[in-house]
Amino acid sequence: MLGGAGPVLRFAPSPNGFLHLGHAYSALLNERLARRLDGALLLRIEDIDVTRCRPEFETAMLEDLHWLGVRFDGAPLRQSERFGIYGAYIGRLTDAGLTYRCFCSRSDIAATAKATGEMRRDPDGALLYPGTCRCRSDAHDPAGRPFAVRLHMAKATRQAAALTGGAPLTMRALDAALHVEMLAVDPLAWGDIVVARKETPTSYHVSVTVDDAQQGVTHVARGRDLEAATAIHRLLQTLWGFPAPAYLHHDLIRDASGEKLAKSLGSTPLRQLRAEGVTPQAVRAALGF
Ligand code: GLU
Repeated sequence: MLGGAGPVLRFAPSPNGFLHLGHAYSALLNERLARRLDGALLLRIEDIDVTRCRPEFETAMLEDLHWLGVRFDGAPLRQSERFGIYGAYIGRLTDAGLTYRCFCSRSDIAATAKATGEMRRDPDGALLYPGTCRCRSDAHDPAGRPFAVRLHMAKATRQAAALTGGAPLTMRALDAALHVEMLAVDPLAWGDIVVARKETPTSYHVSVTVDDAQQGVTHVARGRDLEAATAIHRLLQTLWGFPAPAYLHHDLIRDASGEKLAKSLGSTPLRQLRAEGVTPQAVRAALGF
């Protein structure tokens, strides 16, 4: 959609709070990589969570990035305007028989785990979905109750294997020097993930995968906390026939001497630093840029 044939990078913050030094690091790293690769740098506003994201945070975010001096190519893409597009891709999974409706609440899931003793957790530490709604026929939908849509992970990974000729899923992982390593990824570790939430007709995994493909993103540089989730993104890319970007998952922010910045400082909003008289140059220098 927006990307040309060359390298495309993106910074994709969620406007659910003020940007802090961790965001600044990610934005500056993407800026540096875009320069180094002579590529485009896009801004994507990941605001699918309409309860937590607010226009005033978006305005603040744009101001803070401008203050920091990070410039983006083209207009920002706002995910809350794209629910129809995400719905169409979720529909393709449903048409292929890979999804089901789930009426469970978080407490239902916890209660089932307690009752069955099945306490396995996903890479983010949440209980794996016990599959309560997996075999329920749609004829038995509780009338009018909201539902999430889940991916039947066993079926989805089988379908992906059929598409890759049995080759295991991998991600093209980059280190800071842009050396490439192919790493095996395991979407099964996540269980039956939610692809459309009860309150939002999409999920992070769906919208990030669709948008990276539609924006022609070739290099994803983001925090290490999202590394395990890349298994899901690689699975969805395979099911939808999307190209796979290369991924650079960066560590926690460090200062110029290589020390981890204290967590308290790392979470200081950029606008607070600005109000205290810190310059954008000083922020860049402190983060090693
Ligand atoms: N929106 C996510 C965040 O603010 C980042 C998603 C991504 O880079 O893939 O943490």
